[in-house]
Amino acid sequence: MRFMSRRLLAVAFAAGSIAIAGAQQARTPPQGQATIITLQQPAQQDNVRALVGRLDLEKYRATIKGLTQFGDRREGTERNRKAVDWIEAQLKSYGCETARMSYDPNRPRPGGGGRGQGGRGRGAGRGTQPPRTPAGTPEDPVRRGAGGKGYGARTGVNNDPQRQQNEELRALNMGEVIPGNVDQVYCTKVGATRPGEMYIIGGHMDGIGYGEAANDDGSGTAIVMELARVFSALDVTTDVSIRFALWNGEEGGLKGARAYVEQRQALQGKDEPTWLGMIQHDMMMFDHGMPRPDGTLSPQQRPEADVNIEFQENSKMAAASQKLAWLLKNANERYATDYPATVGSHMQSTDSVPFQDIVAAISLRENERRDHIGFGWDPHWHQPTDVFSTFSDQDFRLGLNAAQTTLAAVAQLAGANVKGETGFTPLFNGKDLSGWIYGRRGNGAENRSGKGYQVENGVIFSTKEDGGNLYTEKAYGDFAFRFEFRLTENANNGIGIRAPLQGDAAYAGIEIQVLDDSGSQYTTLRPAQYHGSVYDVVPAKRGFQKPVGEWNSEEIIARGRRITVILNGTTIVDADLNDIKDDAVLKKHPGLANARGHIGFLGHGARVEFRNIRIKEL
Ligand SMILES: [Zn+2]
Repeated sequence: MRFMSRRLLAVAFAAGSIAIAGAQQARTPPQGQATIITLQQPAQQDNVRALVGRLDLEKYRATIKGLTQFGDRREGTERNRKAVDWIEAQLKSYGCETARMSYDPNRPRPGGGGRGQGGRGRGAGRGTQPPRTPAGTPEDPVRRGAGGKGYGARTGVNNDPQRQQNEELRALNMGEVIPGNVDQVYCTKVGATRPGEMYIIGGHMDGIGYGEAANDDGSGTAIVMELARVFSALDVTTDVSIRFALWNGEEGGLKGARAYVEQRQALQGKDEPTWLGMIQHDMMMFDHGMPRPDGTLSPQQRPEADVNIEFQENSKMAAASQKLAWLLKNANERYATDYPATVGSHMQSTDSVPFQDIVAAISLRENERRDHIGFGWDPHWHQPTDVFSTFSDQDFRLGLNAAQTTLAAVAQLAGANVKGETGFTPLFNGKDLSGWIYGRRGNGAENRSGKGYQVENGVIFSTKEDGGNLYTEKAYGDFAFRFEFRLTENANNGIGIRAPLQGDAAYAGIEIQVLDDSGSQYTTLRPAQYHGSVYDVVPAKRGFQKPVGEWNSEEIIARGRRITVILNGTTIVDADLNDIKDDAVLKKHPGLANARGHIGFLGHGARVEFRNIRIKEL
């Protein structure tokens, strides 16, 4: 395909294919020793690609929205306890096996004060809005930016519930801490071949600051939950286990993660699978850059926005952790859609810290914790403004790219396999129409009237005003073509197969109908005009379409004269074209004789969205 050049493919197969064979190595981890690098098999790439394709921006956003209904989720409050229940219910609905553990939030931490390391970037300002004073001015001669360079702004924690402007949210966040132990929930994908070894994927579900803790850390929690959803699908297996942990009590001392290490480290190899690595996610959305000289920040995401992967340079497992960090960066290069990743060596103040001397441990963030967030790069950090509505599409997309990064890396590390996805190649890069061309009209003009097809949020859609015929550049003969589609009311589109680039694909090629079968305009069609039919030739079985607004999955298999259409798992057409003997039909549809041609979307002035478009030649 056009959007992945031969050269890129070669790179992907060679350099791109490292995976930490953590399993054997980490069982008795030599202190700080690097883990093994192995070559990933090409088939594995199909699995990784298929899994990454199942991540869903809307689902990610909806999960964050769901978490924000519990306000800032401060540890031990009723809203925090309700959030734990809600998360557990979601994980269960994904089919991920849940468990809880509890801890005493007031238990003194051995050898330590309140919050972990790295307080360096935090200003005073408790209880009041910290003034965002400019750096290096007479008012603040000390304040500097990252690593003492550039500009910084003060940070702080809002401890005043009255500063929340939204009355409903203010009332919700007034609930006091209820004394007693606190619960946290995790769920586990059990490995098929080595269940006694596992990777831990973490985010903290509690927050502070009297906002909605949307970014800190709804954004990280939602990544963990999305990964739990994708890995828990029935057709996915992994060699080793993966635990999805939603830590509680991170704010104010990494309490949940520390309790987990205290309670479960010694159980490894017995009631606890052996730890292979720990990957934490915290504050995943806001990368608007360094404060300006006057202490203000850009309201827009910066063009250089990235995912920051960090390991701790002076931890006992620094070498293995670094290797794991580079593996994630590599996974980002190959599988994330929009944002790059960078690796840094100052992992601090995050739930992977309690693991860092035991096992490879890294953290993902929107920015570096010490040099960026600590110097005021996120003005919503622990503030009443950390609410869902603060964040833009681009911010959510950055978070999704972090999810793609971790998912792609963990899929390789855990030996993930998706039943039946081997050999499929993506036909759509999620970003633009590379590899696609418009058909031609009789007069030679492109077959579209105006905006044609557009790309947005990882989907191709035919515009309401227009549509037209959009084809693969490449021609296909025998193939399995898989895609997902979402209809609007009375929508009409179609999948052209074995079609020429010019002419009406329903006759000069073959059209597999795409239609809102429930549409008020379509109550009196002929059977072979409803969804999935070989249009005007072979009627499809009806009743397997999802309601308008929901995503459907479909597969069209063309093998010789046999055409099979599978909608949401049910075969709705299974036809042998040789059975069509009616001369009138054959004359009207000369394209039925085609052995090869382009695959395309045939728009008719209605919005229809397509995604996860992939093909396997047979
Ligand atoms: Zn956090």
